[in-house]
Amino acid sequence: MINAQNHLLILNGELKKVRTSLLSALSNSSNLLHHSLVETLKQNNPEHWLELTDRQLGNEYRSLIIRLEQLEAAVCQVDIGQYGYCCDCEEKIDSQRLNADPTIQRCASCESKIKSN
Ligand SMILES: [Zn+2]
Repeated sequence: MINAQNHLLILNGELKKVRTSLLSALSNSSNLLHHSLVETLKQNNPEHWLELTDRQLGNEYRSLIIRLEQLEAAVCQVDIGQYGYCCDCEEKIDSQRLNADPTIQRCASCESKIKSN
């Protein structure tokens, strides 16, 4: 049995870390536009950060943004009661997979189908 509330705690903890990393990366940027973006982000609800940073940031922020998207998607699934189900076949995802990465979206067999394509 998957404990979605437990995973939610982990997801929210990582969300906080990724958001902090994003802010510090932007603050340390040599691009002054990024410094004003930091101010904008701080004034907004973190739930809107993805929209606000969309298309404004280069490849160096890509991995942070992707992680943010994955985490927010997983939190959203907990909210709607769909957490832990494969997005392709709707079967339950193995709890070992979810423990390894709580944002995982597919069961092992669907994941391997995608990788072999
Ligand atoms: Zn599946």
